[in-house]
Amino acid sequence: MLAVKTADEISPKARELHFRSIVVDTHDDTTQRLLDPKFDLGVRHNDGNIDIPRMREGGLDALFFSIWIPGTITGPGAVQKALEQIDAVRRQVADHPRDLVLATTAADVRAAFAAHKIAALLGVEGGHMINSDLGVLRKFAAVGVRYMTLTHSVNVAWADSSTDTSAHNGLTDFGKQVVREMNRLGMMVDISHVADKTFFDVLATSEAPVIASHSSCRALCNAPRNMTDQMIKDLAAEGGVIQINYHIGFLSQEFRDAEKANPQIEKEIDAEVKKRCGEVEACQLLEKEKVLRGLVAQGKLPRVNWTRIIDHIDHAVKIAGAEHVGLGSDFDGANMPYGMDDASHLPQITNALLEKGYSESDIQKILGGNILRVMEQAEAAAKRLGGHP
Ligand SMILES: [Zn+2]
Repeated sequence: MLAVKTADEISPKARELHFRSIVVDTHDDTTQRLLDPKFDLGVRHNDGNIDIPRMREGGLDALFFSIWIPGTITGPGAVQKALEQIDAVRRQVADHPRDLVLATTAADVRAAFAAHKIAALLGVEGGHMINSDLGVLRKFAAVGVRYMTLTHSVNVAWADSSTDTSAHNGLTDFGKQVVREMNRLGMMVDISHVADKTFFDVLATSEAPVIASHSSCRALCNAPRNMTDQMIKDLAAEGGVIQINYHIGFLSQEFRDAEKANPQIEKEIDAEVKKRCGEVEACQLLEKEKVLRGLVAQGKLPRVNWTRIIDHIDHAVKIAGAEHVGLGSDFDGANMPYGMDDASHLPQITNALLEKGYSESDIQKILGGNILRVMEQAEAAAKRLGGHP
């Protein structure tokens, strides 16, 4: 077991490698915080996981801001809310021109890195936000969205979710049209959250490699949201990439078992969080973290160490090869393990992979090279299919 490392325990070699590599995170829920007009991404916060100072400190060079609303909100209202969130991200970029730049291609990300700026990218988390309308999908592409997660935690009208009862036996014919249109638009198809059958239907349909923007390994933690070894293998065989999620409930079987063994505890947590926050998502996420850590301190839930992230990366690499694994933290949208409290801790990952004997080039692929390659493949597919990425 590796010990918890603080920033100064990163070896000089790891630090040097980390900061010369392009580090990309494919899933950050920080957008929820941006909806509060008082929130400024440019200053250091003592809560949450992401802001510009902590991204700089952790060498996080590019991140996909997740555009997310609950799957139960559907219809034109869902489209409207998605557009508001896209606007909120674009406004933060406009407000911080020295630090941030909107990126829509892999070349944009590389150019941002060369200019010492952080690339901000957009991903829509949940197909319900297109309101079953390919025209809306095309509008999202036009305003810069470069991936869409087909479902969130409930089914959409054309695809099954991993955490709902099957209604469509995977992807419907319209769902297949959505995937093909995303291919044509150069928008990556994200299979995080989808049912296993939906995943296999997507793989059979997509003309470009597919991503799991924030999913971990089911062999290490049996959550339906995680990917089986077979899914990881098949995703890789088609050129795709699994971006490991840092959420403790997806990393640790021990944590899941403890929660399951005590169904009352989840209810208590939810009630306490609702009491503190009402329905404000950003507040709920921050407060849940505090409540959980309180319960860990009381010994009621197990403590999950950040090195579990390394275990999942290493497992996925063993199954799929280092060309098909990356980082999809779920920062600001999930409960982080101890020692990975925010983006400033990212160099620990590079340090741990070096200690495990990973080559520098494999580490660079995992940190960002792989997802940039998949973006380029999505862009090439769009050109081939006559779209306009
Ligand atoms: Zn998610």
